[in-house]
Amino acid sequence: MCYRRLILFSCILLCASFPLLSLHSAQAPTSLLILNAQLADGTGAPMRKASVRIAYGHIVGVGELDADKGEATLDAKGLVLAPGFIDIHNHSTDELQKDPLAESQISQGITTLIVGADGDSPWPLIGWVRTLQQYPASLNVGVFAGHATIREQVMGKDFKRAAKPEEIRQMEMLTRTAMNQLALGLSSGLEYEVGSYSETKEIVAMAKVAAESGGIYMTHIRDEADKSFDALNEEISIGEQAHIPIEHSHIKLGTVGVWGQAPQYIKVIEDARKRGVDFLADCYPYDAWFSNLKVIVPDKQYENPKSVKKALDDLGGASHLTIIEFSPNRAYEGHNVADLAKTHKLSDVEMYIRLVREGDAANTEASVIGQSMIESDIKAFYQQPWVMVASDGGINSAHPRGAGTFPHVLGVFVREKHWLTLPEAVRKMTSLPAQRLNWQNRGVIREGAFADLVLFNPDTVIDHATFAHPYTLSTGIEKVFVNGALVWDAGKATGARPGSVVGVRGNVSLLLN
Ligand SMILES: [Zn+2]
Repeated sequence: MCYRRLILFSCILLCASFPLLSLHSAQAPTSLLILNAQLADGTGAPMRKASVRIAYGHIVGVGELDADKGEATLDAKGLVLAPGFIDIHNHSTDELQKDPLAESQISQGITTLIVGADGDSPWPLIGWVRTLQQYPASLNVGVFAGHATIREQVMGKDFKRAAKPEEIRQMEMLTRTAMNQLALGLSSGLEYEVGSYSETKEIVAMAKVAAESGGIYMTHIRDEADKSFDALNEEISIGEQAHIPIEHSHIKLGTVGVWGQAPQYIKVIEDARKRGVDFLADCYPYDAWFSNLKVIVPDKQYENPKSVKKALDDLGGASHLTIIEFSPNRAYEGHNVADLAKTHKLSDVEMYIRLVREGDAANTEASVIGQSMIESDIKAFYQQPWVMVASDGGINSAHPRGAGTFPHVLGVFVREKHWLTLPEAVRKMTSLPAQRLNWQNRGVIREGAFADLVLFNPDTVIDHATFAHPYTLSTGIEKVFVNGALVWDAGKATGARPGSVVGVRGNVSLLLN
């Protein structure tokens, strides 16, 4: 598309998307030339020095460019210019309306976040989409239709069983409705309460409908623990039967029984990919989860030594469970259960039960960190070309991944550990999620693409969010542009809210009336 036509097109698009912006104000052409940046263009190609011109929300020039007379310029010497990061698994659905500036997200370089993961989405989608169009956020947003959400629409509270054929037909119909209301595809969370009762054929039926509209299937599979391999095989068979591209959410081997089996897990996926299954995955860059003390005992027998022993064994031992907050006894905080057991001359199981009882007596529960993965598995997953970066966090997430995911990968996995090159890490944050979503015009720096851009310092970029302080913002992300507007600058949100709701082809949606 030529420069002029692009500008005209953008004008129409912008005016249609933001009716308050008059044609008159759009007539004064403004552009910005970003000079001297090292370009990581999103494709994974080696970095190169180049300038980038943006105007009317788009990238309109890349290469050796000189400033036009009076044109605004930005000297980006020493900084990397990359496409804005796309977080395909983000839980900001509700928080976004309370916190549309989303500082914890844009401060990481995220310019588009995708909600509706794990089978749980807003409903009806159209109402949520319209609200977001009327009160835009600082960044772009896309949404999936949740399988569990739709299942509950059809089955109500009677969901603890397989669906009948007539119910599945209704779920197909609602999936079609959601796809017409800008859903990017179908998401599922088969390990959770509502989704877990569904049979494979129910998911296949709904995924087929999503596929017809160009959607994908994004899934938190049925098991990430001892039955991980069965769950993976079910997922692949859904992809094959429904002929739908797959996004495997937060790829994980979550218990001691499967730790270290990443090579075998990867082999199953590679074999499926060779058979033509369009399989990609995302992985959050942390080896631990944050929750409450009791969550580790699935049968809820918190004072039964047998159940507690099995739970601690699955975690790889009591040393993998650390108390973060416990108001009845602050002295426990910062210590793991194995250490506390030694101090108090108890067995690990006895110590756990004591923590449960002390908590119950005070009508509270300890906050804990548990180990979910081992580093060699995370590294193996991150080094697969089909694995992208995603947070599984979001605004106000109590886990450091909510505010730290993308800088953590750049600062720790790239700069400190050398697991990935910088261009490859950027590809995993940009063009790979864009490819998964079938977006041609985001996730890459080239003429004609939307100007979602991030400028960061490769020598300093780092996360600061920890389990004790999960809301601390990252540093080293210097400037962030969304649809050409500066939203993050020198450690602060600018207050601009140029975000769009993005549909199946990556375009700003015009679904306004
Ligand atoms: Zn999940």
